[in-house]
Amino acid sequence: MLGIKVRIDRLRKKMVENNIEALLVTHRPNVRYLSGFTGSSGFLLVTLQDTLLFTDFRYVQQGKEEAPLFEIVRIQNSLDFAFLVDFIAQKGLGTLALEEANFSLKEYNCLQNFLGDIQPIYIFNFVEQIRAFKDKEEIDFIAEAARIADEALKETLPYLKVGVQERDVALELEYRLRRGGSEKTPFEIIVASGPRSSLPHGTASSKVINRGDLVVIDFGAVYGGYSSDITRTFIMGAPDRKQEEIYNIVLEGQEIALNNLETGKSCAAIDALVRNYFKQNGYGTFFGHGLGHGVGLEVHELPVLSPAGKQVLEEGMVFTVEPGIYMEGWGGVRIEDLVVLDPSGPHILTKTPKELISL
Ligand code: ZN
Ligand code: ZN
Repeated sequence: MLGIKVRIDRLRKKMVENNIEALLVTHRPNVRYLSGFTGSSGFLLVTLQDTLLFTDFRYVQQGKEEAPLFEIVRIQNSLDFAFLVDFIAQKGLGTLALEEANFSLKEYNCLQNFLGDIQPIYIFNFVEQIRAFKDKEEIDFIAEAARIADEALKETLPYLKVGVQERDVALELEYRLRRGGSEKTPFEIIVASGPRSSLPHGTASSKVINRGDLVVIDFGAVYGGYSSDITRTFIMGAPDRKQEEIYNIVLEGQEIALNNLETGKSCAAIDALVRNYFKQNGYGTFFGHGLGHGVGLEVHELPVLSPAGKQVLEEGMVFTVEPGIYMEGWGGVRIEDLVVLDPSGPHILTKTPKELISL
């Protein structure tokens, strides 16, 4: 419970800095992070003195077990805000902060009916900014999720053959992930072959894998609620010159980023290193997404490594480095690793080799 207590303390410090007296936490990963509660329905109220978990009949017992630092309040359903608002009013609080990205219009309208004189305040990425810094337990979970993913990919490679469908490969991979201890797949497995490999999010289809295809496989595992995320690109048979050239440029671009990860550097600057390298090699327009993203309870979280990334790299951050080059009609190459920045520097958690493997 020490981890949870530290998180609540950090949250309260940030609430004080931002003049927030009461915070309604509705985003499920934030609820889990701050309380330990994993149920699919329920929300938290955190004030500077109190911690309450509101949930319905189905989750009361689970809430008591998983969130011992929270007082459990049984409500009728997820729109039952009566007790919440009464509680805030009784405590003499005048405002309530809401997570604006995670509140439906229906919930908002319903809450408005109860609020009376209490002023809503809208916050964005408030808990998420705290979540960007992982503690040891979180890093251990992510490292284990990365290990499970590496192992499952290794076991799946014999099934990646000319003549099979992309979804056959995804199915084998998912089976081996689950067998290896993954709680679920954090996102739909991407197996994109041949011209489909230029789709950055080409989830596995019924397309048959052909000789000469590049095959992009992007997937992850979940352990202790925490995700991993890895991409490798394979070639069916021998690569032609262009495939080899582009693969090497993507790999070199990724290595430039990995060799420059340091606390204090801006995420946008790391992204720019790779983007400029691709530009110098004539592929500047074929890298249309950000260089990477934080990974934790969600597979896309802070920090954001992109031209718009506002954060600075700091100790405790866990994020991907995943440059890619995609050309419509030709195909694509992406190489993605998961990195943790700890006091001794960056450590790559995903260990699958990266030289171009011909199958
Ligand atoms: Zn990925
Ligand atoms: Zn990713």
